[in-house]
Amino acid sequence: MRPVRGSALDSPPDVVLKGRFTDADKERYSLVPFLVEPGHRQMHVRYSYTDRIDADQFLSGGNTLDIGLFDPRGTETGSVGFRGWSGSDQLEFVIGDEWSTPPYTAGPILQGTWNVLLGPYKVGPRGCDWSVEIRFDPGISRLERDLVRVGDSRSRSLPEARAGWLRGDLHCHTRYSDGDSWPSEMLYAGAEAGLDFLGVTDHNTVAHLAEYGAGGNGRPIVIPGVEVTTYGGHWNAWGTDRWWEFRTPEAPAVEQAMAEAAEAGAFVSVNHPKPFGPAWEYGTIRSMHAIEVWNGPWARLNSISLDFWEARLRLGQRLVAVGGSDTHILRYHDPDPRHTQALGMPTTWVEAGPGADAATIIDAMRAGRTFVSAGPAGPQLYLERKGNGVEVSVQGGDGSTLIVLGDKGAIGAAAVESADWSTTVAVRHASTYVRAQLVAANGELQALTSAMWFSNPRSES
Ligand SMILES: [Zn+2]
Repeated sequence: MRPVRGSALDSPPDVVLKGRFTDADKERYSLVPFLVEPGHRQMHVRYSYTDRIDADQFLSGGNTLDIGLFDPRGTETGSVGFRGWSGSDQLEFVIGDEWSTPPYTAGPILQGTWNVLLGPYKVGPRGCDWSVEIRFDPGISRLERDLVRVGDSRSRSLPEARAGWLRGDLHCHTRYSDGDSWPSEMLYAGAEAGLDFLGVTDHNTVAHLAEYGAGGNGRPIVIPGVEVTTYGGHWNAWGTDRWWEFRTPEAPAVEQAMAEAAEAGAFVSVNHPKPFGPAWEYGTIRSMHAIEVWNGPWARLNSISLDFWEARLRLGQRLVAVGGSDTHILRYHDPDPRHTQALGMPTTWVEAGPGADAATIIDAMRAGRTFVSAGPAGPQLYLERKGNGVEVSVQGGDGSTLIVLGDKGAIGAAAVESADWSTTVAVRHASTYVRAQLVAANGELQALTSAMWFSNPRSES
């Protein structure tokens, strides 16, 4: 948020919390309690720390301190006492009974013991001296929304999908985490891109869901979600309306949180398992349903994510392929190559059938009826079982090369010679699964399907 000015904030703070983190505290969250007396309606929180550097994973030598807040209702996993987490993105914010700075939740300023959550993501060689200042009832009025995408959107004209197939983007961020736009603007941009659905995945919060609503009516259908953001990697949960534990960056804790989300009905993926991610450091985890095989433009080291996925397919793990643009920035040209600025790059296609809604789209993903393409315009890549093999149909992929793969490598390849093209490929060798991908002449992937599994591997003939 913009710095808040006013006499109330020039007065001495009501609460000052101070401390120091050293290298031993790195990536370990701490709770710092403070007492709130009855009768308050708003609080302003401001924090600062020494040697501050950006959260960018490629920067080191200084400190990056994440912050969140719990009210007296509790600090345990999933607690309603969780009022929000803003990473290192905002050095000050307001929490109040009428309004709060996103992603913090508005509601009563309950009396009792609150806790500031501090996470030293990076600790530099000189340590991290931090201070949190809290002022009660500064009387700050709600900031006006600076919406730039309002009104009717004009959607692109795109090649038609097969009946029952929808195109969408499963990964994006708003001002409820580190994005620059509001939920209504993301839906507007999604409609402009021609998307049928949008997975909404702000970091460690679900506060954006209320503002998104259900979508539809000329806007993409909203797939409610959250990007669970831990210090050892990120995972998405879709079809959930609560936050999941993110504070312990160790495989058993992450596995437990992911399993609990899956148990509660969420569809979960490992996100961007590649060094351009941040990467995924929990190699042993098995509770995910899907891998985000394609995050942002292909050249951003997505081949490493593809290898991560394929290695697990070969072990028999039936993981679905999904993609997400991870869009954060819609308002200006950001030269930072980590940030995609276009929804639908890549696009995930899902066979959800007629009359789809968020639940049937998630069901289709769960069943593995997906493919991922470079953008909303395709190319489209359909894989179907046919006799002793598979039929592969390609729309808009002429000039590229189709490769069909099984668990022992390529089992077929062909040049795609027309805009509406199909071929059948016999699966002669014992293979537990078959998948297909399209590669352009320059070597970049254009599309890939999820794996089709054969319950009885076809025997060598
Ligand atoms: Zn992420």
